[in-house]
Amino acid sequence: MYIDVILPLPLDGVFTYSVPPELERQVAVGHRVLVPFGRNKTYVGMICGMWNVECGMRNDLSQNANESNGLQSNLIPHSTFHIPQKDKIKPILQVLDASPILLESQLRLWRWISDYYLSPIGEVYKAALPAGLKAEDGYHPKTETYIRLTPKFRSEQALHIALDMLQRAPAQQKAFVDFLDLAFLSSLTRDELLNQGHTLATVSALCKRGILETYEQEVGRLNHGGEPHPENIKPLSLPQQEAFNQIQFAFLQKPVTLLHGVTSSGKTEIYIHLIQQALDKHQQVLYLLPEIALTVQMMDRLHRVFGNRLGIYHSKYADAERVEIWQKQLSKNPYDVILGARSAVFLPFQRLGLIIVDEEHETSYKQQDPMPRYHARSAAIVLAKMRNEECGMKNDDYSVGCKVLLGTATPSIETYHNAQTGKYGLVTLSERYKGIELPEIQVVDIKDLQHRKMMRGPFSPVLLLKVREALERGEQAILFQNRRGYAPMVECKQCGWVPHCQHCDVSLTLHRNLNQLTCHYCGYTYQVPSVCPACGSHELQTRGYGTEKIEDEVRALFPEARIARMDLDTTRTRQAYERIISDFSAGRTNILIGTQMISKGLDFDRVSVVGILNADTMLNYPDFRAYEHAFMMMAQVSGRAGRKGRRGLVILQTKSPDLPVIRQIVDNDYAAFFRSVMAERREFRYPPYTRLVCVYLKHRSDSLVETAGHEMGSRLRQWFGARVLGPDRPSVAKVKSLSIRKLLLKIEPGLDLPTVRKYLALAQQQMLQDKRYASLQIYFDVDPL
Ligand code: ADP
Ligand code: ZN
Ligand code: ZN
Repeated sequence: MYIDVILPLPLDGVFTYSVPPELERQVAVGHRVLVPFGRNKTYVGMICGMWNVECGMRNDLSQNANESNGLQSNLIPHSTFHIPQKDKIKPILQVLDASPILLESQLRLWRWISDYYLSPIGEVYKAALPAGLKAEDGYHPKTETYIRLTPKFRSEQALHIALDMLQRAPAQQKAFVDFLDLAFLSSLTRDELLNQGHTLATVSALCKRGILETYEQEVGRLNHGGEPHPENIKPLSLPQQEAFNQIQFAFLQKPVTLLHGVTSSGKTEIYIHLIQQALDKHQQVLYLLPEIALTVQMMDRLHRVFGNRLGIYHSKYADAERVEIWQKQLSKNPYDVILGARSAVFLPFQRLGLIIVDEEHETSYKQQDPMPRYHARSAAIVLAKMRNEECGMKNDDYSVGCKVLLGTATPSIETYHNAQTGKYGLVTLSERYKGIELPEIQVVDIKDLQHRKMMRGPFSPVLLLKVREALERGEQAILFQNRRGYAPMVECKQCGWVPHCQHCDVSLTLHRNLNQLTCHYCGYTYQVPSVCPACGSHELQTRGYGTEKIEDEVRALFPEARIARMDLDTTRTRQAYERIISDFSAGRTNILIGTQMISKGLDFDRVSVVGILNADTMLNYPDFRAYEHAFMMMAQVSGRAGRKGRRGLVILQTKSPDLPVIRQIVDNDYAAFFRSVMAERREFRYPPYTRLVCVYLKHRSDSLVETAGHEMGSRLRQWFGARVLGPDRPSVAKVKSLSIRKLLLKIEPGLDLPTVRKYLALAQQQMLQDKRYASLQIYFDVDPL
């Protein structure tokens, strides 16, 4: 007997092993096995297929690679199966499971992600399974060593001090930053920190300094708390009830439905009703949110209703907890509702009936790095489709099986297009709850004000006036600037020298609290020079405004106000994040300054003014999606104004007040926005009129990556002709010491995608067979955002 096994390696395809007779009865698809690999390595692999040489059949799901597509198949190497000669096939060492830990539908999803996103299945395996399930020794410790901040370092101030203390100990600083990142939402084991590549000595040094401390804790801390309280479900308002009914009706006809509801229309309340309805039908629900931080707020809201039927799952949870949730979902008593970020699509579900993709337009649903570069919205839709096929559902009967609801105030262009063309159902909710008006948006021409010398730094007089009035009335203000740090650029006044990252092709951002220059691409930090290294001048000046500098200036302008700032730098810990939000919603702070973090799903009562300080940085971004992103960002930020109480005001500062997109934001006219974007996309052949695949090449040598880029270009052009654009240097052409080139493939409808993918993979393979390119990285980004 032979089995095909997926290994956690960045290699495409599956690996064949033989099964010793005494283990034959233990193997099954979805069981893990311990297998030898290479000379002396062993890995935990996942069985994805079983077959018998005698009958020559593979009864598995890894099969589709062998299907001929009418291509010149001699061109396509059979890379997907690594079948050594029969006598060289190695036997497996051990079977680790008595029942599958991976369901068939999950395996099919892995396969789809691997195929569609041109990502080795081993990478999907690595991303999908919690580390504890990939470890050789299984995962059953009774207690574990956890690591946390010592009490005296649990304030934001203290974190800055700690980071400062570590300036001269880069290894410790890096470990500390990783700690802050990973410990954001849940407890962290010491091993998990060590797994980031830090030594025990480094971590112990942080403990010796009194910054971190270890403690022992038993595993098994899943949220058992609380009975469900369906009586806490709020009755729907009339417009909400109508939307709810329309969604039900749409579900009878379409697998996917878009709920396009303005900010604060009560979309979440509708979701809660839909979830309850699914639970009543004994179905499970997956509720996806784009960002881990948002799950914190939603968790409370859902917990009040669903109690211990609700589980939370995302990549920042301690691995032990993720393993437990995974196993619970396979058990007889799984969570009925899972709230999670992107990676929750990989969980096992036994009777999934509804997937909600909240804030479906958010680009953070797409994983950028590392592979697999998948979009969780697409994965969710495919997951539902597979579930429906599993249920034996007929094409025209959606009264059973799994539905997907996409919800947002600002649909992505692709989704709205699908809704318009009838592929998805569409339900619109254009009224805020209790009929509260959408805010008035006032555009301020800052170019004109600059000419007339009327700007005060980044603030127009009207913005300052409105903020002052709000404060006097005891109301709150939000100021939005999508740049963190103090100043995006430092410059020598004499010679124009600008500090750049040594590893990346970008200028450095000044962080004044930390007194550091930071690279926002690789995270490297530098001392701030006191003299210009180019000309020796002492006159170094800052340019532009980051949130930190905005905060300084607002403090000077409104000394009596209590001010908070919310960006990546101030929300390194969950406590800090929650405190900023709770202080603001309780009115303990008056002005909140923030990056795009403040645009997301926060629901505040007393915000009467929102200032968008500079729309132009978003609009001028060199990308065909710049307007789409800018529109959504500004519409979402504006949505924070006047959510309860009276009509809010948004001051939108821009140098280009006449752009149509500004008008569309002011009128909250999504339809007009959509039409104009679509006209542009059609003209320049961008999605949804085409599909895009980006091809990235990376190497330490710029000249090599240049040559390789051209060679890849000509290889692709022999098949795809003028559909290939580039190679180009991306706007940031070097990151982490690797030079980058980018090619873009535009695929028109009607072209067979599997064929396209095969040729892309072939070109990649041919390139990498060339000795010159041995250390070249080539990867694809399918449907890039
Ligand atoms: P959205 O998700 O569309 O932004 P929310 O569901 O967050 O809107 O609703 C905005 C606010 O209005 C929330 O505080 C919510 O509790 C309240 N709300 C919405 N619908 C109802 C309802 N039917 N009954 C009571 N409160 C509601
Ligand atoms: Zn100089
Ligand atoms: Zn850098």
